[in-house]
Amino acid sequence: PAHGSPLVTLDKARKQFGGLVAVNDVSFEIGAGEIIGLIGPNGAGKSTTFDLITGVTTLSGGQIRLSGRDAGVHRPGDVARQGVARTFQHAKIFPDMTALENAALGAHLRGNAGVMRSFLHTERAEEAQILAEADRQLERVGLAEARDRPAGDLPLGQLRILEIARALALDPNLLLLDEPAAGLRHGEKQQLADLLRKLRAEGVAILLVEHDMSFVMELVDRLVVLDFGTVIAEGDPHKVRNDPAVIAAYLGG
Ligand code: ADP
Ligand code: MG
Repeated sequence: PAHGSPLVTLDKARKQFGGLVAVNDVSFEIGAGEIIGLIGPNGAGKSTTFDLITGVTTLSGGQIRLSGRDAGVHRPGDVARQGVARTFQHAKIFPDMTALENAALGAHLRGNAGVMRSFLHTERAEEAQILAEADRQLERVGLAEARDRPAGDLPLGQLRILEIARALALDPNLLLLDEPAAGLRHGEKQQLADLLRKLRAEGVAILLVEHDMSFVMELVDRLVVLDFGTVIAEGDPHKVRNDPAVIAAYLGG
């Protein structure tokens, strides 16, 4: 897609859990090739917004459009095929499998079957293709050297990057990253930031949920701030950061 053309549009997206409004008529757009920071205090609705975009959870109201088309009731597999991939706040890496095997799980998902079905029925030729794709992604993120090591032996910074490699195997034009820098050391954060900039340069848009503000500020083109499920500010990162409503939300939270 051309730079800036909308990949995902949230139009009054809403999610209620019983009486709790976790996402309250949220509207914003993610354009091709941009990095958007989605920030807000704990419980603001950031992860739920990811779940709505990726079809992990269903909308209580409003609409989500993928590449301009109403996604309707969409399911995770459909979303992946539309070019949207994600990582999770709590890493879903298999520690006993090698880095390559973990990355290959993403390529497995690229087909139309679920992971287990793919594992059980994949033909040899297809398997070779999947491993080649996983290798290509490890190379792309700078993890080729860790290829044959059990994922459980890798430092946290490399694990986070491995998760990104796995998501990239779906060949996304949008990556949703849920707190990728949490718990990383300074050097690891720099490495991660460099990777995200490289991916943006390659045309991958990123929606970034992250608490570390200096990490966010040095990367994002735009900020969207949520508080109690509602967008309280949006736009230029430096302006938004100094917005009194944003400062109040953080001091109050
Ligand atoms: P954030 O990621 O910004 O910290 P979440 O999206 O995880 O926030 O949560 C938003 C709100 O929705 C919180 O109050 C949380 O407790 C609530 N919530 C999230 N998931 C569920 C669920 N499955 N059932 C009930 N409440 C939920
Ligand atoms: Mg969260």
